[in-house]
Amino acid sequence: MTKRRVVVVGGGLAGLSTAHALLAARPELEVLVLESNARAGGNVRTLHRDGSTVELGPDAFLTRPGHAEDLCRSLGLADTLRAPDEAASRVLVAHGDKLLPLPEGMALGMPRSLSQLARTRLLSPLGKARAALDLVLPARKERDVSVGALVGRRLGREVKEFLVEPVVGGIFGGDVDELDVAAVMPMFANVRGSLIRALAAAPRPTGASPMRAPLGGLDGVVRALVDALGPQRLLSNATVRSIARHGDAWGVHLDGGVRLDADEVVLATPPGVTAAMLEGYAPELADALRGFRLKPALTVVMAFGRGEIATPLASGALIPRGAPPPLDALSAVTFVDRKWPGRVADHLSIVRTAFRPSHAAKWMRCDDETLVARALEALRVILPLPAPRWHAVERFETGTPCPEVGHTRRAEECRARALAAGVSIVGAAVDGPGIAGVARGAAATALAIAARLV
Ligand SMILES: Cc1cc2nc3c(=O)[nH]c(=O)nc-3n(C[C@H](O)[C@H](O)[C@H](O)COP(=O)(O)OP(=O)(O)OC[C@H]3O[C@@H](n4cnc5c(N)ncnc54)[C@H](O)[C@@H]3O)c2cc1C
Repeated sequence: MTKRRVVVVGGGLAGLSTAHALLAARPELEVLVLESNARAGGNVRTLHRDGSTVELGPDAFLTRPGHAEDLCRSLGLADTLRAPDEAASRVLVAHGDKLLPLPEGMALGMPRSLSQLARTRLLSPLGKARAALDLVLPARKERDVSVGALVGRRLGREVKEFLVEPVVGGIFGGDVDELDVAAVMPMFANVRGSLIRALAAAPRPTGASPMRAPLGGLDGVVRALVDALGPQRLLSNATVRSIARHGDAWGVHLDGGVRLDADEVVLATPPGVTAAMLEGYAPELADALRGFRLKPALTVVMAFGRGEIATPLASGALIPRGAPPPLDALSAVTFVDRKWPGRVADHLSIVRTAFRPSHAAKWMRCDDETLVARALEALRVILPLPAPRWHAVERFETGTPCPEVGHTRRAEECRARALAAGVSIVGAAVDGPGIAGVARGAAATALAIAARLV
């Protein structure tokens, strides 16, 4: 009997972990990952410099759902996983030119009780009184509502702008008035009345931070996946243009006219690229995939001498979009040596900033020096900073899918259409924007394929 072959297109975390899970379930399968870049890993980009490790892309993954942690365990990386430092677990929010602490125990900037809001200086007395109306406002059935519209209507403008927007915007890189409640705050997807009561009734997360990352950086996960696959199962510099059905098999068409045949194909590429590959074979699926909006990202890392700067004892700061210019160019700042003390050399303090997606889109082509100057100018509104000893800039031009209103339904539509077309699609657009969701989608897809290929 001939070996069954699965071709995985895209060597980011989604593609690599699907291939890894497939081989774990069915070691006899012939699995090949095709990656257009020279380097696998996609968005995962870790900088190792001057005795320090700094993430330029994703920083850590969530332990809920637990699939990313399971993946690390299966790769022998469990012992290397660390949570952000407990001592610096505070998150700050820029308020004018001040940094104020986000009240503790919030869920994505949402309070579980009014008492959590009592002492914060991020809200005015009127803002706090308005938030209390959440408990008495009539219940309303909402469909396709944005996070901003829901929170603003129930708890008022201040909770939306000073608490929820900085947190949610910082994580999902989108405009709070466009983000999908079902994708971003699934705990409120079916809530009709008070959001505070709904949160209070939900199980409260216990223990330390739900974030984890390998001490040596997330590129360790990529390296372990690549090593586990072996060189014969990963083809780099291989760009796929289209896929088509040829009799009983799939034909995967690469640049240069090469065609590879496969029994199953997994598409682990950004949705626009996946759409172009499917155009000729499944045009309606291609259309649905094109509906996902991607937000570009631009990060700047700056290293200072330890003692040259005085960062507050906090993991970082979130910047509301209404912050005074030029600070409003940034969405988030990480004090890397506070958040991940084991990763930064003793003689350094490292600050990482992310530009707001609107600014990232405008400035993507600017040279590194200009971007560092803009990041410094913005940061100096809240923190005195000298010139950095060194810097690094990373551009994510394709960016990540932004879960805007309708995202959850679109993802469901894509999964259903893909199933009908007999093709598998994985990755941040259909499985969730973060690594944990991506790992969950990869594991489920691998199991489904393993069951089909009997
Ligand atoms: C700045 C930034 C910060 C983030 N922070 C976090 C975080 O802290 N925590 C978290 O959980 N998530 C975070 N994310 C999201 C996380 O990076 C993604 O969920 C995850 O990396 C997506 O993996 P993927 O494999 O789906 O996509 P990608 O990483 O985009 O991989 C797609 C791969 O397909 C390849 N490809 C493209 N076209 C072709 C083609 N034609 N043929 C062959 N190959 C092709 C690409 O080269 C790439 O390697 C962040 C993302 C960014 C950009």
